[in-house]
Amino acid sequence: MCVFCKIIAGEIPSTKVYEDEEMIVIKDIEPKAKCHYLCIPKEHFALLAEMDDERAEIVKHCLAKLPMLRKELGLENGYRLVINQGEDAGQTVHHLHIHVLGGETLPW
Ligand code: AMP
Ligand code: ZN
Repeated sequence: MCVFCKIIAGEIPSTKVYEDEEMIVIKDIEPKAKCHYLCIPKEHFALLAEMDDERAEIVKHCLAKLPMLRKELGLENGYRLVINQGEDAGQTVHHLHIHVLGGETLPW
């Protein structure tokens, strides 16, 4: 089981800030910005290239839900979403996740 599947299963601890049937949002353990969250679909798949209709609905749900959470996550002033895909992007966890960065003016 991958590290995010273990977090979703409650087998390893995380700082969870939101959960519903499709996804969880946790704090990244190595924050790259003042606020750095990971939005993680509960279904395990690694890449957008593995998308099908059901997974597209899950990703759509994540993208629709995140703006609703922005106040409680301290992101009212803006935020950046990043999805690393594969080696050149430095993807280290092969379970699709959306980085959510903000809480300050980001450097680029
Ligand atoms: P990526 O490089 O896009 O695959 O991002 C993986 C992210 O997961 C990195 O920013 C890590 O800091 C983060 N990460 C890895 N393990 C954990 C964990 N146990 N809890 C929270 N974040 C994690
Ligand atoms: Zn997984």
